[in-house]
This record gives sequence, C-alpha cells and structure tokens, in this order.
Amino acid sequence: MVALLKPHFRAEAPFDEVLAAHPAFPRLIARKIDVQRRGVHYTPAAEAAIDPAIHQLRSPYIFGSRDGAIKPLPESLLLRDGTTILVDPTPLEQDPYVVDHRDGRFVLLDGGVEVETVDLWPKPAYYDKLTSSGIKMSLLVSARPQRLNVFQSSYCYFWADKAGCRFCDIVTHTKQQREEMGVPTRLRPEDVRETIAEAIKEPGRFTNLCLTAGSVTKGAEIFDQEVEFYIELLQSIGSLFKTRRFPSQLIGSAFNERQLRRLHEETGLSSYTTDLEVLNEAVFNWVCPGKARQVGYREWKERLVRAVGIFGRGNVGTGLVGGVELARPHGFKTEADALAATLAEADWLGERGVTTVYIVWVPRPGSEFHDQQAPSLDYYLRLAQGLQDIRARHGLTVDFDDYRRCGNHPDSDLARLQ
Ligand code: SF4
Repeated sequence: MVALLKPHFRAEAPFDEVLAAHPAFPRLIARKIDVQRRGVHYTPAAEAAIDPAIHQLRSPYIFGSRDGAIKPLPESLLLRDGTTILVDPTPLEQDPYVVDHRDGRFVLLDGGVEVETVDLWPKPAYYDKLTSSGIKMSLLVSARPQRLNVFQSSYCYFWADKAGCRFCDIVTHTKQQREEMGVPTRLRPEDVRETIAEAIKEPGRFTNLCLTAGSVTKGAEIFDQEVEFYIELLQSIGSLFKTRRFPSQLIGSAFNERQLRRLHEETGLSSYTTDLEVLNEAVFNWVCPGKARQVGYREWKERLVRAVGIFGRGNVGTGLVGGVELARPHGFKTEADALAATLAEADWLGERGVTTVYIVWVPRPGSEFHDQQAPSLDYYLRLAQGLQDIRARHGLTVDFDDYRRCGNHPDSDLARLQ
C-alpha cells in the first residue's frame, strides 16, 4: 500500500521531537521551514476572513503553487516575531498545515492542534492602481516584505531545448498566468518604471528591488540578449533615483565577465545572484541539464567568483533549491552525504566572497519532479544553520536577501540573530 500513498504521508518525527535535537535553533524559524515543506490549506472560515481590501493576495510569481491552481489566497503568513512564510496552498490529502480563523485571528494548526497565531501581509498601496497603459500594477511588480519583485519575463530558453531544471515549472506556470490572470509574457520598461515610482511613494515600506526571469540563452555570446533586457530595465528604473547606485538585486544567468562589467558600469545595480541550485557537479548535471550543457558546473562557480571582483564581497550570491540534491534516483542517497557535500561547496564559495542561500524545495505539479518528496525537517534545520555558520565564518553579509527584503530563505532568517 505504501507505494500508493501521496507525498508527505510517510511517517515523520513530530515537530517538537525534531526541534529537541536542535535546542539552539529558533522555534519560529523551524516552524517556518516545516510549513514551507508541507504547505498550507485554508479552511472556509479562514478564506471568509481574508479581506482583499487590506491583505496582500497571491500576485504573479515565477513559479507555480503546490496545488497547481491560481486562487485569491494570501501571498504569505507572518509569524509573531516578523518571520514570513511564503507558502503554497496545498491539497489536504498531502497533510499540510491548516490555516483557520478563530476568535478574530488567523491560527496555524498542525494535526488539528493550534500551534501559532499568524497574520497576513498588508496589501501595498499601489496594488489596485493602473499604469497609464492600463495594466494593473500588481501584475507587473509584486511585493515581498520590504522588496519589490520584477519578473521581467517568464520564459526560460533551457526549456526550449527540453533541458529545463527538473524541479522547475516556470513555463507551465507562465502559460497558466497568462491565460488566467492576463500577465504579460515580457514586461515593458516604461510600465515597470511607472509602477515602481508609484510603489515607493508608500512611506517606509520598500528598501530593495529584485529583478529576475528565466534564462535567455540567445545572443552573439550566450546570455547577451538577457543582459541587454536587464540593462534596459535597470536604466529605466535607475532614472527614478538620485544616486548612481540604488538598492537592487539581479537574479540572472551565469554571465561572463564582460556582461557583468556592463551591468555594473551601465546600470545602478548593487548586487548579483546566479543560482547553482545544487552544490554537487554530478547531481547538478542531472538536475539542471541545460545549465550543465551550456555553461557547466565549474564554469558557473567560476563566474560567481569573478562577479565578486566586480560587485564586491557580500554583494554576490547563489541560491539553492534546498533538498533537491536528494531527488531520486540520481541524487544523494543519504541526508548526511547531501549535507556534507553541500556545505563543503558553500564553504569553498564563501571563502571566495560568494554567499549561499536556500529555498525549501517544493515538488510542484508542473515540474518533472512533481511526484518526489522534500527531505526531513531535521535536514533543513542543519542546512540553514550550516549556511549561516559559513557566512559568519567568512564575514559575509546577506542584506540583499535577508528576512526583511526577501523572507524566503530560512538560513538568512538566522542572519538577523547572529
Ligand atoms: S534556469 Fe532552471 S530554474 Fe531557472 S527558470 Fe530556467 S529551468 Fe527554471
């Protein structure tokens, strides 16, 4: 019978038991990780209490949700210490946490037991406004706690070669967003500029901008066209600021030195991230076949290190889909081996000024890994602490990707405590 059970139905140690083995790990950050691992389901009472006039609902995102649906549900939950939980609505049969509304407050239930009070993000003031071209601004720029996200285009050319990353659903989700929400496939710089100009009028809310998109492999040299798109967009956004540089993060492909210099010199960009996703060459080759074929694991790492020479220590990062290194059948066989290999590589990068953050792997229905299962809570606690310890050891900060700006990396949640 076991083979017929859905993911998340395997026997797992209870939350308190796992946390007892990590007495120094903050309880609320551990809760965030567990909620992200298992997802959430909103009860009818919770759905009825959501107020679209004041709560931030799910806006366009580069990846889809665990239930494969686009519904007007909250973008995120907020814990009582300010920790955010960006989390997907998840079918009940996958044993998610449950969000209910009781006695005038939202609560988080695990196995029917109330474990936390939660809040919802407040809706940004610009969300209901329209650009002069008539597009709803929330479809162009979405908000994180204190950051504005611009998903410049949602197509990835690795998919065109049938070599997209196996955990990724960007293209299936793009199609769904375009059809159901009317999200433009590629954003016009004037629309983005106008939206950001409106967003930053809200006092005290936004302190950073993040640009990302799928990889565009086209151009005289690979990624030239992607760089061109970003330069155009960053120049347009930059005209809103009086200073030469403005707080910003670009999560792009692994650009060569010439491309990185152009971004640094021709725009006000202040930090650069390119995601390795998996810190092991053999597993990377399997999980990210397009990246492996067109750039290669070692070259991707070297490009990160070269970026430090341009953007400076602490301004260059790489992101991992934490846990995907254990995907079956070619990932690591044990959590201990996966953790040791990942932290050793992150340490190598940290020594060279590159910071590593992770997101919790969600096996999404539109991805090739849709029927897989993320690893244990214990694994994620060790990974978060390990990455933060590496940052501390090498004197690296992660301000452009911390709990205020991004809120999606459990390891950088720890950075505010140390
Ligand atoms: S590079 Fe990989 S993870 Fe990024 S959008 Fe393309 S397929 Fe998805």
